[in-house]
Amino acid sequence: MNSLAELSQLLFPSRCFGCQKLGPSICSACRSSWHPHYYRTKFDNLTVHSSLLYTPTASKIILAAKEQGIKGADELIIDAIIHAIEKSKIDTTLARLVPVPSSTSSQRRRGRSFIVDLVTKISARTGIQMLDCLQLSRRVLDQSGLHRDERATNLAGAFRITSQARGELILIDDVVTTGATLREALRAVNSQGFHAAGSVSAVTACVAQPLR
Ligand SMILES: [Zn+2]
Repeated sequence: MNSLAELSQLLFPSRCFGCQKLGPSICSACRSSWHPHYYRTKFDNLTVHSSLLYTPTASKIILAAKEQGIKGADELIIDAIIHAIEKSKIDTTLARLVPVPSSTSSQRRRGRSFIVDLVTKISARTGIQMLDCLQLSRRVLDQSGLHRDERATNLAGAFRITSQARGELILIDDVVTTGATLREALRAVNSQGFHAAGSVSAVTACVAQPLR
């Protein structure tokens, strides 16, 4: 570490974005708890492929990426999503990655569309094209403060599809908890007869088990 970096550490000590322990970045304990495996969840007609369980540490890492824009946290999520895509055995030659949008107010607060940003990088690394075809058609609340039933109501009919979606579609989100968001994304993709052929699956970095 050079003296400027040392001085900056002294004045603005950084903390592990998993557990808040003082340190230059993520601590080794949190880093080793973020170890991608492979989980497969099925609901309705959707199979969701994920890399990690949604533990309290995983949730803090996701928040650090989403709400604080910490690049190291972004990288962990990107790696986890790519890992799950590889493990899923989905034929990706004609597949498109479809980012699942978050509320307009959270996009404004974060200064970016978190998932679109991540999927852009995932697309560049994997060579799988992105199809940013899902949009919010009305105002929704941030899902995080809502209970299961409220989440479904909050999102019912909230997504619309903005361009033709053909072939294999892979919905991409950071985490699946109740499944409400992915259900709504699936409904939108399958509506309007836009999705002519192929199938829809989903990949997330984390999965809450059981879905709650
Ligand atoms: Zn830590």
